[in-house]
Amino acid sequence: MIELAYITLENEMDLTLAYKKSIQIADLIKLTVATQTVFATAVSEVSREVMDKALEGSCSIGISSDKGRYCLCASLVFRIDDDFPRNNEGFDYARKLVPLIEISFSDTEGFVSLEMAIPRSCKMDRHRLDLIRRQIELVGPVNAYEELKVRNAALNSKSQRQELELIHANYLNEQKSEFLSVASHELNTPITILRALSQISLRLVDPAEVKLYGHLQKVEKQTGKLAALTQQLLDISKIEHGQFTYKKESVELDDFMGSIIESVNLLTPSHKFQYELNASCTMELDRNRIEQALTNIVGNAVKYSEKGTTISIRTGVEDDRIKIIIEDQGIGMSEETRKNIFEKFYRSDAVHTQYKGLGIGLFVASKIISDHAGSIDVKSEEGRGSSFFISFPKSAPQTQGLS
Ligand code: ADP
Repeated sequence: MIELAYITLENEMDLTLAYKKSIQIADLIKLTVATQTVFATAVSEVSREVMDKALEGSCSIGISSDKGRYCLCASLVFRIDDDFPRNNEGFDYARKLVPLIEISFSDTEGFVSLEMAIPRSCKMDRHRLDLIRRQIELVGPVNAYEELKVRNAALNSKSQRQELELIHANYLNEQKSEFLSVASHELNTPITILRALSQISLRLVDPAEVKLYGHLQKVEKQTGKLAALTQQLLDISKIEHGQFTYKKESVELDDFMGSIIESVNLLTPSHKFQYELNASCTMELDRNRIEQALTNIVGNAVKYSEKGTTISIRTGVEDDRIKIIIEDQGIGMSEETRKNIFEKFYRSDAVHTQYKGLGIGLFVASKIISDHAGSIDVKSEEGRGSSFFISFPKSAPQTQGLS
């Protein structure tokens, strides 16, 4: 059968719809009004029985062809239980209207097919059948209810598609997490050994052996970079698996900040550092993790600004919160970038080709800060620089302010 209409039988309105669709198709075939009515009545009678007594059902209406003989048909499929009456009044009534009716049952399903031969005078052929199909599409829904049903069906299939896409995306995400976890753990051990060996070798080799010493220095520097990258991947994997833990201790903030600035200053002679520390209070924090977060933000300030420019670091206490501000005079960022920088793996288009990175640093930094009940925000202007504002609740009384 070439299906021209499909109706799920859910309520009274579907019976009207089955009737109207039968009339529409019979009319397009050019059957007489009497025949149209007889066929439509039979279809809606059987549909009523299915709707009332079966668990769920549907009705397809269309045209079948067998050796050049065309028939108008309706085919109903429905789910049944033991209570469904095999000898059915509605079906009997339909049998009186339509000459060809076939009824069959399996344990769980019922099938009814109704057929009416299309007289040769209607001149039905493939071409006309196509035309009828196109006319039905062109006319669209026969009433407001069908329009609603069509829209609902489209919405349902869209939401089903989205659900499937979501399941697929979650699966891919899990696969990616698994790969990340295995890869970072597998890389970590050999890189740690390589790094240790290159450091030992550097100590053993006489600096007078300039070439060998130079090579070893490069090996040591590159393995250091590899170790840092692997560490970033390991951190992501730990965060995803809920294994990112903290060892908090009471720390004097300005002393702690001073030591961070000192080492950054030493390692980064390319930039000028300005600092103003006004938060001599104690805070419960994980030294290594907070240092990791702050050096990442300062590292970005260095990476994304010209040599010789100034990076300023200030601390203070305001409104019962400890504040840390890190400012650079670098490339800055667009509004779009600013909104996304704390997302995992996000890197702006502007930096992709010119600056190295994985787009992990700020994601991890913001996680560490929020796990210390803190917050991080950024203000930035393209071409003029960026300011990162970090704040934590104060754990000890303090009076100094941030200038
Ligand atoms: P990475 O630096 O490895 O790309 P991050 O997570 O540290 O990853 O930073 C994410 C993105 O935020 C960067 O790719 C860059 O686009 C932007 N960004 C971060 N810090 C700065 C900064 N100080 N100036 C300009 N852009 C920055």
